[in-house]
Amino acid sequence: MVIDRKETFLKSSGKIADPESQSPGVSRPELLAPGGSLEKCVVAFLYGADAVYAGTRRYTLRAQAGNLGWEELAAARHQARLWKRKLYVTVNSFARQEEIRSLPAFLEYLQEIEVDGIILSDPGVLRLAARWAPQVPIHLSTQANTTNAESVRFWADRGVKRINLARELCFEEIRDIRSWVSTELEIFVHGAMCISYSGRCLLSAALNGRSANSGTCTQPCRWSYRLVEEKRPGEYFPIWEDSGGSYIFNSRDLCLLGELGLLLPLGIDAFKVEGRMKGMLYLATVVRAYRAVMDRWARGCALGPAEAEGLEDLGRVSHRPYTRGFLFPSKGPEDAKSAPEVTYLQTHALAGIVRPSPHGYWEEPVGPGDPDSSHIIYLEVRNRLTPGTTLEFLFPDGSIRAHRLESFEDCRGARRDVAHAGTWIRFPVPFPTFPLQVVRMELNS
Ligand code: SF4
Repeated sequence: MVIDRKETFLKSSGKIADPESQSPGVSRPELLAPGGSLEKCVVAFLYGADAVYAGTRRYTLRAQAGNLGWEELAAARHQARLWKRKLYVTVNSFARQEEIRSLPAFLEYLQEIEVDGIILSDPGVLRLAARWAPQVPIHLSTQANTTNAESVRFWADRGVKRINLARELCFEEIRDIRSWVSTELEIFVHGAMCISYSGRCLLSAALNGRSANSGTCTQPCRWSYRLVEEKRPGEYFPIWEDSGGSYIFNSRDLCLLGELGLLLPLGIDAFKVEGRMKGMLYLATVVRAYRAVMDRWARGCALGPAEAEGLEDLGRVSHRPYTRGFLFPSKGPEDAKSAPEVTYLQTHALAGIVRPSPHGYWEEPVGPGDPDSSHIIYLEVRNRLTPGTTLEFLFPDGSIRAHRLESFEDCRGARRDVAHAGTWIRFPVPFPTFPLQVVRMELNS
């Protein structure tokens, strides 16, 4: 069991969160991360997710995301078992007749590979799941817009085990619902927000024929708009004056890392991170930031340092200005739900992913080595690299080790002056790394 060996090394070296090291008796919500591909599922586990959610191309709201094929779902399920984590599969589109007809075979398959849960929102899909995958727990998607305890009971009476509450609820409402029901509850803590009621929106379908309800939203709520008076064609008036354009909706991204001190004692069963279409750097950064704060809470430690470090790190990856969403009243313009800025903010980019060999994949064995010796690593390059670039290796415990790239070779041993995205290079680093380790670089450094 290669992964087991790797996990043992990472745990013993303090480089990975060990759920069994938590204080006994402390209720620990699950950290649920997006698994947009098989590799992303493993990266999420590596950086501390308790569970991942993934979809297959046909039956998910993220039809465009790097969803998994049926065999990949089985492989992700296998990885989840090796890591002692969980895999939930999204079947959360509002199914049309044609999909409904082909769904039983897929549901049977999910039961056969023993996924840990099916995430759905359509009552018809729920009915089919009860028939064709009766042993698989059912989770209700935020798309079902559950906003009160009676709705929770309604779904629980129909066999739903866990409910992802509507993102539109405030903190007091969540606390109140929790006090009335024992059903598992889940909330979103991080990621992109819809300006409509949790994705129940036809803007994209109306403007370019790609419907959010079939997972092909092009996010037109974030586009720049102008107002035109009927008798003045060609004269475009700004609605919200700003140097970059005018923005009607333009939701900020949700970030509740700084509020975990209030959310953790509520008894919510899972904190969910949005973003199956996001990249490896986003995934590793977000998961390890939330993991660090949640682990400190479970150990009864002060959250402040991990929160401050995490928020700083979350500011480095590509994001829209952050908001606390609907959970708390706005503190002021800096905490508004929409933003005049249209651009994404980021200071760092993904430099590459560590690979164990020229043809290596994450399943291949890797030794911890001697921390003081040099290790030759292979890097799958994701952004243009030149000698002199400082690489930052992200570790699951929240630490970072920087390494200045002096020189490097391609996989055939030829020295190179530049490495482009998509190529692989090799070079020594003076500390142990591990396959699938995420490496970032500062932009314009
Ligand atoms: S257009 Fe915006 S609000 Fe509508 S579904 Fe897409 S992301 Fe959500």
